Amino acid sequence: MYTVSCKNCGRQYESKANRNGVCPDCKKIMRSRNNTRYSAKTYDNVRIYVPKGYREELKQYAYDKGMSLNEFINKAIDLLVETLENESQKSD
Ligand SMILES: [Zn+2]
Repeated sequence: MYTVSCKNCGRQYESKANRNGVCPDCKKIMRSRNNTRYSAKTYDNVRIYVPKGYREELKQYAYDKGMSLNEFINKAIDLLVETLENESQKSD
């Protein structure tokens, strides 16, 4: 192990590589910042309101089906759009 200084904050930290990189704390902060930037560039946010407690119920249901709550909601939206499209085609 080598003692090197962080390129970002200058703090000394232990590293396997004998060169200056970023310390574990800065690495965590930078990763989180990069994830936030990536998400902002890639996704739109939609805030929905549900009755108190229903969120946890849905989350548990989604997890039981092997999905995240986000995947579950996106799938529900896709299925509804598909259903409505099929219904409108039948009435044409
Ligand atoms: Zn640092």
